[in-house]
Amino acid sequence: MSLLVVCDHDRGSLADASLEALTFAHPLARAAGLEMAAVVIGEGAEIAGQGLGAYGAHIVHTASHPLLTDFGPEAWGETVAQLMISTGASALLACGTDRGNEVVAQAAARLDLPFVANCRSVDPTGDQWSMTRVQWGGSLLEDIDLTAEIRLMTVAHHAVEAKVAEAPAAGSLVSFSPELGEETVHTVVADRVVLTKGVTLSTAPVVVGGGRGVGSAEAFAPLEELAAELNGVVGCSRAVTNNGWRPHSDQVGQTGTRIAPDIYIASGISGAIQHWVGAMAAKNILAINTDSEANMVSRAGHAVIGDLHQVIPAITQEIRRRKG
Ligand SMILES: Cc1cc2nc3c(=O)[nH]c(=O)nc-3n(C[C@H](O)[C@H](O)[C@H](O)COP(=O)(O)OP(=O)(O)OC[C@H]3O[C@@H](n4cnc5c(N)ncnc54)[C@H](O)[C@@H]3O)c2cc1C
Repeated sequence: MSLLVVCDHDRGSLADASLEALTFAHPLARAAGLEMAAVVIGEGAEIAGQGLGAYGAHIVHTASHPLLTDFGPEAWGETVAQLMISTGASALLACGTDRGNEVVAQAAARLDLPFVANCRSVDPTGDQWSMTRVQWGGSLLEDIDLTAEIRLMTVAHHAVEAKVAEAPAAGSLVSFSPELGEETVHTVVADRVVLTKGVTLSTAPVVVGGGRGVGSAEAFAPLEELAAELNGVVGCSRAVTNNGWRPHSDQVGQTGTRIAPDIYIASGISGAIQHWVGAMAAKNILAINTDSEANMVSRAGHAVIGDLHQVIPAITQEIRRRKG
């Protein structure tokens, strides 16, 4: 009996979220007395599947088929459903990214099984698995008892930090050829434009965030400079995207990106709950705000009460001075 983990990748380049899923799944599989296996689907699967033994995967199924190229939720969901049946897996887990949730939902519909999305914790020791899942972007936690015998779930993105297993497993690659017809493949990626190259908002170790207090699109230039000095990226609040100062891909929060950097510098951001849920996984937060009562200031580990237009350039200048 196994717990199957769906690992997402982009043409052979494994998504960090997949490593989070494996990290979460490994102790869970052990507590449930299951062997952990992984599945990587489509073009580049064999490259992406290398090294997953270090995260505790005994077997890595690499699924290939002429119709499985880039991401397609129905074809990927159908592939996972067929693999679950052929291996007799008793649990399925993916990271709760848009893609992870979509694939598991597709598999759940095909297998006619319930699916619990965005779990933060799962206790498999009783007859029913007890889970806590995140709702409404993190502002509500729900406790669930899952009575189904085959358990399908995703782990909330950034709920755990990816780390290799204490005892690595074989990670043997085993190919799998699903039976897919044209009728299964409704949505296929035909073309794509990579908006962010290199470090992205969700994986950046440093994020310099700006809110309404920044004042204009042009006034983000000093934030860009500071981010560049720290090898980080710029993020923003929804007030900023609503004003058209930055693209939506820069937005942090419930309706934007969840970030988990080592440090989040939140400047001119009040810290509304919808913003906070996207930022709360940051390991350290430095708030820069003129209002000492702002939510972001109360929640941050460090704060500077002052005008960001003076504070941000001063930090950049000091970093440059120290770098010599
Ligand atoms: C369904 C829904 C979803 C939402 N999703 C998101 C989301 O994903 N992300 C998000 O961010 N918001 C989201 N919001 C909006 C959210 O509720 C807030 O309105 C928004 O986060 C406020 O942005 P802000 O902090 O930049 O602006 P404000 O709340 O106006 O705060 C501006 C801050 O800047 C400070 N300030 C002003 N001038 C300066 C200065 N010179 N120097 C330093 N500080 C200064 C002020 O003291 C204030 O604290 C959502 C709202 C809803 C209803």
